[in-house]
Amino acid sequence: MDPFDYAKAIELIKAPFPSGTVQKRGDNGRAYIPNQVYTDRVEAATGSMWDREIKEVEINIPHGYVKVVARVTIGEHCRDGIGFSEIETDQNGKGKSLANKVDQAFAEAVREALDTWQIGWKDLAPYNQAEKDWGSNPALRHLLNSTPSSGGRDPDNQSRTFVVHCCIFSGCGKQLSRDEWDFLGLIPSLNREKMVYCFQHIPSHIKKKAPAEVIVKYEDRIKSK
Ligand SMILES: [Zn+2]
Repeated sequence: MDPFDYAKAIELIKAPFPSGTVQKRGDNGRAYIPNQVYTDRVEAATGSMWDREIKEVEINIPHGYVKVVARVTIGEHCRDGIGFSEIETDQNGKGKSLANKVDQAFAEAVREALDTWQIGWKDLAPYNQAEKDWGSNPALRHLLNSTPSSGGRDPDNQSRTFVVHCCIFSGCGKQLSRDEWDFLGLIPSLNREKMVYCFQHIPSHIKKKAPAEVIVKYEDRIKSK
């Protein structure tokens, strides 16, 4: 199995889209690229080796908003984005179509996270050339020298399986090594799809459920690093 080529995947992610991809919002005329286009691009560029998850949802009915923090993982790299949507309330003060609003905020949060990899920047820069807009900044002039889209699909990438797990401990986000992932699997009745911790951050009441000799072995291994 070839290692995942992160640099190549990111290059494909940043590549320009076909002309006509950028659309204008009905309300404010701002240029945007539909979420489905981003999803399709990231799928193709990474050979499906990416993931997105909700880290945090806040539904604040009194203040009328939903906030979602989403994490996008590509290869060994995790990035977070924040999305908001506005809630309308009915005459009883109950939030309307909350599930939709959460979806909307999640989509925005994923877009924000993907944005840090510069997806769509080359396409959106020409629409953001007003004096103070980001696309007119001389430091980003290179975005305007576009090259044709390669479509981003690499046939060799399709069959690899590669699942990345990042530590959920606040502020960590480290990608678990194979060992660390295996260790979580040794803890009885732990749902390791949810309770993802690097070895250092496993809460001790969880860690001590693993067989004692296994813990010793892992601790030795860490010391010897
Ligand atoms: Zn950690």
